[in-house]
Amino acid sequence: MFFHLTGNPLLALLQNNTITFIERNDMKLENYVLGRWITGDGEGQALYDAVTGETIAHATTKGLDFDSVLQYGREVGNTSLRKLSFHERGRMLKALAIHLLEKKEKFYSISYHSGATKADSWIDIEGGVGNLFANASLRRKFPDLPYCTDGEPIGLSKGGSFMGHHLLVPKEGVAVHINAYNFPVWGMLEKCAVNWLAGVPAVVKPASITSYLTEAVVKEIIASGILPKGALQLICGSAGNMLDFVTAQDVVTFTGSKSTGLMLKSQKRILEESVPFNMEADSLNAIVLGSDVSPNTPEWDIFIKEVRKEMTVKAGQKCTAIRRIFVPEHLLEDAYIALGKSLAGTTIGNPLNEKVRMGSLASRDQRDEVKQNVQKLLASSHIVYGSLDSVEVIDADANKGAFLSPLLLLSENGFRNEAVHEIECFGPVSTIMPYNDLSEAIQLTKKGKGSLCCSIITANNKIATEFVVGAATHHGRILVLNQECAKESTGHGSPLPMLIHGGPGRAGGGEEMGGVRGVKHYMQRVAVQGSPTTITAITGQYQPNAKGIESKVHPFKKYFEELEVGDQIVTAKRMITSEDIDAFADLSGDHFYAHIKDTDFAGTMFEQQVAHGYFIMSAAAGLFVDSYEKNPVLLNYGIDELRFTKPVYPGNEIFIRFTCKEKLPQDPKDENDIPKGIVKWLVEILDDANEHVGVATILTMVAKRQRVDKEKKS
Ligand code: NDP
Repeated sequence: MFFHLTGNPLLALLQNNTITFIERNDMKLENYVLGRWITGDGEGQALYDAVTGETIAHATTKGLDFDSVLQYGREVGNTSLRKLSFHERGRMLKALAIHLLEKKEKFYSISYHSGATKADSWIDIEGGVGNLFANASLRRKFPDLPYCTDGEPIGLSKGGSFMGHHLLVPKEGVAVHINAYNFPVWGMLEKCAVNWLAGVPAVVKPASITSYLTEAVVKEIIASGILPKGALQLICGSAGNMLDFVTAQDVVTFTGSKSTGLMLKSQKRILEESVPFNMEADSLNAIVLGSDVSPNTPEWDIFIKEVRKEMTVKAGQKCTAIRRIFVPEHLLEDAYIALGKSLAGTTIGNPLNEKVRMGSLASRDQRDEVKQNVQKLLASSHIVYGSLDSVEVIDADANKGAFLSPLLLLSENGFRNEAVHEIECFGPVSTIMPYNDLSEAIQLTKKGKGSLCCSIITANNKIATEFVVGAATHHGRILVLNQECAKESTGHGSPLPMLIHGGPGRAGGGEEMGGVRGVKHYMQRVAVQGSPTTITAITGQYQPNAKGIESKVHPFKKYFEELEVGDQIVTAKRMITSEDIDAFADLSGDHFYAHIKDTDFAGTMFEQQVAHGYFIMSAAAGLFVDSYEKNPVLLNYGIDELRFTKPVYPGNEIFIRFTCKEKLPQDPKDENDIPKGIVKWLVEILDDANEHVGVATILTMVAKRQRVDKEKKS
């Protein structure tokens, strides 16, 4: 049966569970620039099937005008994206994620050409789409505006009429992503999800050798019409002189080798224009087996499984893969024998064969580079599992495909072996080394001079604490793995959208993803000073001491659309009595000594019986909640912050200044859901001296008028 991989120049013939490529040498990948698909000049670089070694496409960017590409991104893509609010951009990400999931089978079928198994491709394809979903949900952490505040408001005057706040606005440039070959889909989506949420367009330059898969995904993205024009451009092939045209409003991110990263980072244009450059380079990630673990504890099996997984998933071509293994000296032999046995169970070969657990490397060049690097390591270590010269493969030709056996090396002394902390073999290769005590293990992990991720296997929390605190300066992420979390653990090698990914020193010194942190990377921070009323207007959040908008109608009677940030009421006063406090103590069961009138208050923080803070908050609600009648407020959603700042004694009067602080729209879950939004209210509780006795931010769900209109219609 023939089928055409729509939008991709590969033709495939599915036969007996193998895909044979029909080569068409004129099949050049296309670049998506300036709003259209363009083929570069010349023949370009040949791209090969990693399993069969056959040519499957060519990549060329010759003839592209990179200055215009960046300019188009800034003028067309940025202009559209920066107008959208975070919520609109988040919904766009969600729609795109859903669309790509519908097309995923097409991507899987292409991904096999890179030597990836189904499980490897899942990480790349569905992991990438997962990043879109995660960032789509992240919109809820932002206002429904194109920009946002950063941190807390800062009072700058005694009288309260002058303040400062930090504002983040989308940069006016493009995000230029120069990616590595190992994750052609995830590598693009994990970054684009973040810059799109921030309101910045992207120019993606995948590593050439696997760019055919990125091209296929971009074809679907563009065809979906979900992104505004100019939000995404794709370069398949050389980046040419693109970096000569970047400006301070652009952001360059790089993932790949340390040498290329350094070369690009130190380019004159990057330095002269102060272009933000985020680098994520290869690193010598490590795992430590805690001294509390022995072959008869559950953590032993967890350790063996984790190392095998890290060595063989994606054939070890993961920036986070474990390259160095540190075990207590007395367990060295047990550990490498057990690891060898486990690795021996890894079936290698054509990833289309269901029995295969490890596919090939992405290209024969990569395999040769790995072999050369292993040779360098062998000057100070020896192989305890695997072979450099031969590999048994299923359903494939070991000479034609980029196959390599997993290789476990042993080095007797990690302190005297510099190469093992320097040279990265970007394949299924790792070196095991002994340590004597935990401080030695910490020092050994640090000899990598900065890594993306480090793990320790221990069930002892003292060991875990000492290790994490001691090693934290040199690793971007630390996983503490034991029986309690192993089953649900996401594993050593998985960067997660809500946690930062990157690492110090050798790992490039960059940070990406990390939830809200990552989004800020594509935004410009500015400190804004002015009156609280002005800062309220700019930020869309009510600032302390700003002028309120006197509301003739109680704000609870207004629908979501009708409410304005700053809408305010000041309530009547209520006297707090000793009987009230006694009654609240009886009702709640809170008989803390300070609330009991007979207490001897000498040596306490109070002069006499004091009202419960929660009673004051409840009494506050009694003052600011309006009527018995149904109103647009659907429910009380919770309290974000609550402080009791001054004691309230019997005979004191309290009143409330109640202000609409912020509005966050919510998307209906389905067509039956009530259209509504979240409204945050500032509750200032004041006493007869006009001083604050408490401050809270409460949350309510408020119906939209749209609901009433909808009900009228039906
Ligand atoms: P490279 O550093 O060679 O390339 C990374 C990216 O940079 C590719 O897109 C490449 O494009 C691009 N590039 C290379 N030269 C230039 C240039 N002059 N101007 C602009 N862009 C350029 O890494 P590879 O992808 O080839 O992988 C090689 C090594 O990188 C691996 O062996 C491994 O050690 C490391 N690596 C690290 C990863 C990490 O996440 N930390 C991930 C993958 C690899 P092109 O492909 O067209 O040359």
